[in-house]
Amino acid sequence: MGIPAYQNNDKKILLQDILMALVEAQALTQKDSDQLSKKWAINKEHPLNLILEASLKHHTLVDRNFTSDEILGILATHFGMDYQRVDPLKVPLETVGSLLPLAYLERLLIVPVELNSEEVIFLSSERYVNSWVDEVGAQIKRKIKVRLGSPRQIRHLLNEIFIVQKAFKGLARDQGSSGQEKMRLLRQGKIGELDVLIEKSRGRNQGSQDGFVAKIVDWLINFATLERASDIHLEPKKGLAQVRFRVDGDLKTVYRMDHEAMMMVIARFKILGDMKLDEKRKPQDGGIKRNLENGKQVEMRLSTLPTNFGEKMVIRIFDKNVAGKDLEFIGFDQQDLQLWEKLINEPQGLILVTGPTGSGKTTTLYTSLNRVATPDVNVCTAEDPIEMEVDAFNQVQVNPQIGLSFAECIRSFLRQDPDIIMVGEIRDFETGEMAIQSSLTGHLVFSTLHTNGALATIQRLVDLGLPAFLINSSLSGILAQRLVKKLCSHCKKAVPVDINRWTALLDGEKLTPPSQIFEPVGCEECKHSGFSGRLCVYELVKIDDRIKKVIHGNVEISELREKTRGFYRSIRFNGARKVASGETSLDEVLKIVY
Ligand SMILES: [Zn+2]
Repeated sequence: MGIPAYQNNDKKILLQDILMALVEAQALTQKDSDQLSKKWAINKEHPLNLILEASLKHHTLVDRNFTSDEILGILATHFGMDYQRVDPLKVPLETVGSLLPLAYLERLLIVPVELNSEEVIFLSSERYVNSWVDEVGAQIKRKIKVRLGSPRQIRHLLNEIFIVQKAFKGLARDQGSSGQEKMRLLRQGKIGELDVLIEKSRGRNQGSQDGFVAKIVDWLINFATLERASDIHLEPKKGLAQVRFRVDGDLKTVYRMDHEAMMMVIARFKILGDMKLDEKRKPQDGGIKRNLENGKQVEMRLSTLPTNFGEKMVIRIFDKNVAGKDLEFIGFDQQDLQLWEKLINEPQGLILVTGPTGSGKTTTLYTSLNRVATPDVNVCTAEDPIEMEVDAFNQVQVNPQIGLSFAECIRSFLRQDPDIIMVGEIRDFETGEMAIQSSLTGHLVFSTLHTNGALATIQRLVDLGLPAFLINSSLSGILAQRLVKKLCSHCKKAVPVDINRWTALLDGEKLTPPSQIFEPVGCEECKHSGFSGRLCVYELVKIDDRIKKVIHGNVEISELREKTRGFYRSIRFNGARKVASGETSLDEVLKIVY
């Protein structure tokens, strides 16, 4: 490119410039500024990094430090620049990487983060280094806008963009000239022929290609965990294949790649997950354990599905540390927490955790089991699939193909002197009967059902043909749960309660409406979604004598509902409480009640 990095008028920003700006904005006292200036007099780190990592005390709010966003916002205003936090998921990695050479961007410490046909937005940490703007603008024939960014973030993004860029370029180079032929086959939907062609060219270039593919796979895993994604979807489509992450329950497209690259990425995952590489017509499962760059360990469950555009893969990511979490994540009321603790510490009984897929049942089960799995008890679990490996449990993967059903697992457990048994799911009479029998013979049994609520769970057990007297003598408690989005605490706004909707939510239960509730808005902190993270709403029902009296051999849900009114607090009540406390919105809870 031949453009010198710094020209005559360019001047690198100094610690003094930044300290002065903060003092002028009254974010820092002159005294503190003098101290910091002395402390960092000979530090070689970029001054902006020093400030951002110093945890400066907030000037007006007690007990709170400035966030990086706040500091950068203050400085940007002072320097007459824009500031906006960059969401790495929204940076178009595919396109920004081809604008300018990495070495050039690194030297100037700038990174392109947004672009369209007219303009490109760059992050820069250097307010007084501007000579590149005109030159780069001319070179890439677009208007240049510069926003303030931290040096650390800029380096991180550059890394992200160019590792991926290089890997895909390398892949494309090695694919040779058969690309057009492959696109033609793809467009015509001739997936079988396409596979053959790709296998052939794979044989020729395997060595170097595998290196690039491995880099892309590593990047995907690290990127997904960094963004707290719970699932990675690898989806072949008619045009470009896409990668989507599920974050806080919503899917977001993060990358598009050509069909062939996607097939190789999926193939690499299949190899890591010990799955059959050449089986593409039938769905398959597999698993991977990985150590991340930050030293954390993650476990992933892989599954494939043959679609009309080729094999699709979903990778579920499990946080290894989840089993070590405490029960706090369920968000129990004090009273319910005590009740749950009591139930899971009984020597026997049947405890059911229910809800649809993705309602956090597994987390509840693992967390609860982990609390009672002391070295002096034998915990046996039958799972399908084993979602997380936990040292304290004896875990068995059920396998119906060889006759190892849930029921058969329990039968085998009983010969192994168990104290606590966890059965992945009660789907049939036999499993239900085995679970009940074991709980009646001095074991604590945990299981799940795919039902909507506590009463529906009782009805399901009756419908499976389990006799009412057995249910009554074994079942000790049911926890029915759902996940709702948590409001972002930085931007949620107070609104008055619409009494009609409040009453509709409670559906007959009594809870005084709060003076105000909250609705989502959207800000930099929550990536403009208005929400951040998720929380449980639940109903916890202790099966006491009053409820047992209502359960009989052909009980219907309407009768259960009628006669158990007031015996326990419904999920609606719990949801309303969490709306009243400002944790979530009324709409979020209304979405999940039934
Ligand atoms: Zn927000």
